Amino acid sequence: MSSDIVGRKTPSGTPIIKYDDAVRFFVEIKAVGACYACNAQMFNIVTTGDICDLKRDVDEFGNFIDSYRIELECDNCGLVRVHRTDVLEKWLSETPKPTATAEEPEA
Ligand SMILES: [Zn+2]
Repeated sequence: MSSDIVGRKTPSGTPIIKYDDAVRFFVEIKAVGACYACNAQMFNIVTTGDICDLKRDVDEFGNFIDSYRIELECDNCGLVRVHRTDVLEKWLSETPKPTATAEEPEA
């Protein structure tokens, strides 16, 4: 059985993005630059254990919508930047994790 959880959601519909997958995304697309507030080079992905802590978007009336964001916090000044998770999910589904073992991708 594969441990790949790309594309999975919680029962409430929140996407599940593993910390490792988020790191792979930000490193490989080279989206991690210097903090635009303090110029530090280190961001931390906000997580609960191995799973990224996602924030659900709201519309202009304050109602929750089916759109989620992942937060990165500057290690130095605490500035938080956000990225839409649908972009990560699309990239992760198109860019399987390289593996030394022959794992069957989950359908
Ligand atoms: Zn900063």
